[in-house]
Amino acid sequence: MVPRTVSPNSFSGRLDDPAGNAGYDAPPPRKGFFTDTSVCIGCKACEVACKEWNMVPEDGIDLLGMSYDNTGGLGADSWRAVAFVEQSRPVGNVTGPFAGAATGGTSEALQQETVAAGLDVFEEASRLGTGLPEGRPVADLAAAATGAPGAQGDGCGCGAGGGGCGSAPPAPAGTATAPERSGQFLGMPGMLAPAPLPDREGRQDVRWLMMSNVCKHCTHAGCLDVCPTGALFRTEFGTVVVQQDVCNGCGYCVSACPYGVIDKREGDGRAWKCTLCYDRLGADETPACAKACPTESIQYGDLDELRERAEARRRQLHDVGVTEARLYGEDPDDGVGGDGAFFLLLDDPEVYGLPPDPVVPTRDLPSMYRHMAVAAGAMVLGALVSGLGRRS
Ligand code: SF4
Ligand code: SF4
Ligand code: SF4
Repeated sequence: MVPRTVSPNSFSGRLDDPAGNAGYDAPPPRKGFFTDTSVCIGCKACEVACKEWNMVPEDGIDLLGMSYDNTGGLGADSWRAVAFVEQSRPVGNVTGPFAGAATGGTSEALQQETVAAGLDVFEEASRLGTGLPEGRPVADLAAAATGAPGAQGDGCGCGAGGGGCGSAPPAPAGTATAPERSGQFLGMPGMLAPAPLPDREGRQDVRWLMMSNVCKHCTHAGCLDVCPTGALFRTEFGTVVVQQDVCNGCGYCVSACPYGVIDKREGDGRAWKCTLCYDRLGADETPACAKACPTESIQYGDLDELRERAEARRRQLHDVGVTEARLYGEDPDDGVGGDGAFFLLLDDPEVYGLPPDPVVPTRDLPSMYRHMAVAAGAMVLGALVSGLGRRS
């Protein structure tokens, strides 16, 4: 360790090396999590692995009655919490990657069409959230696969047939291979992603958005900045850890966290949260939650590399029409200097219970001190003027 230096960005703003800023000499690359919610299946293996490895006590087996999420959120005894966001959406297949495809079919109907087309329903189902090229309806796939004339069986819908319009001609008769599809698995139940518009029958469907929430290991961590005992500290990996043997239970960190993560344990009084498995990192091991995640929704690694990977994934989803995909917490210029644990979301942050614009409380310290200095100067000046006035 070298003595801690205070840089202009020690309290807010971009800070590329928080461990170095905290005083570590030549620290290892900053570690973090990229959680890709588009592939989360809500299995909660991450929650279980975290509890098991870190011996986090159970916090009640409650049926909350508000969704399939019975954890409710992060807390002193829930360091990972998988949110289940259920959204009522109209049935159909015109959203994102399905734009332009036939509407009106339910998932079941589309599955029946798939079977009737002689396609492998499991192969098709494994393409949840994938796109039909050029927005072609499933009926076309059937026609292309079986050779039967479809409503728009020329493969493009223009009616020219045989690729006369320049589009690819239909697949040869009897071929059970679907015309090439592109796209990504979105982790949603059902055959296809739901649509933003009502179907012919005006029916509604539900989509689940699932996200494994966790401490963000902020670049500028409000919890750490306000801790009076030093119980919260920055590790050499750039993560934020609380030492319970130094915590006095004052609770300042709880109100300073812009994400509402850190929490005092009932009956214990001290503050607890995710450590990003500091003990495992020290042994060059992957954190328990990332290790247990079967879909690699939770990815652990060097933060710089994770940011590149996340941006590539975002672009990939946009390319197949999932334009609602966006990154959250990856921006080093945001209100907390970027998160060590960031996310790819499929809707607004508020939908997942995340603040849209988190800000570290210390961001306002310089302006607060400036105002205090001005007020103090004005008081001194006032005292001088009144003293001089009395003399004369
Ligand atoms: S401020 Fe909150 S989210 Fe950030 S490191 Fe502290 S507890 Fe985690
Ligand atoms: S990194 Fe470790 S402590 Fe943090 S949520 Fe994952 S398993 Fe729990
Ligand atoms: S993040 Fe992974 S382990 Fe956790 S619920 Fe999602 S898929 Fe399961």
